[in-house]
Amino acid sequence: MRCTVCQQGETRTGVTNLGFQRGSNQVVVRDVPADICEACTEFFVDEVTSGQVIALAEDAIAHGWAVVHYAS
Ligand SMILES: [Zn+2]
Repeated sequence: MRCTVCQQGETRTGVTNLGFQRGSNQVVVRDVPADICEACTEFFVDEVTSGQVIALAEDAIAHGWAVVHYAS
């Protein structure tokens, strides 16, 4: 699809890493499926996936993990 941010690039299906911070705790969720713009590198994660990513991040923070992998 056409990128809605830069209006110039096309998005491609890929994966990205999303970082979260909660107080002094940081966690990175790796390999999150997303549509990524070739031009501006903006990424778009669908609603279902982002809900799962947030749940994963909360769980990781509760366990004190710095990195978790998204698994579909
Ligand atoms: Zn773009």
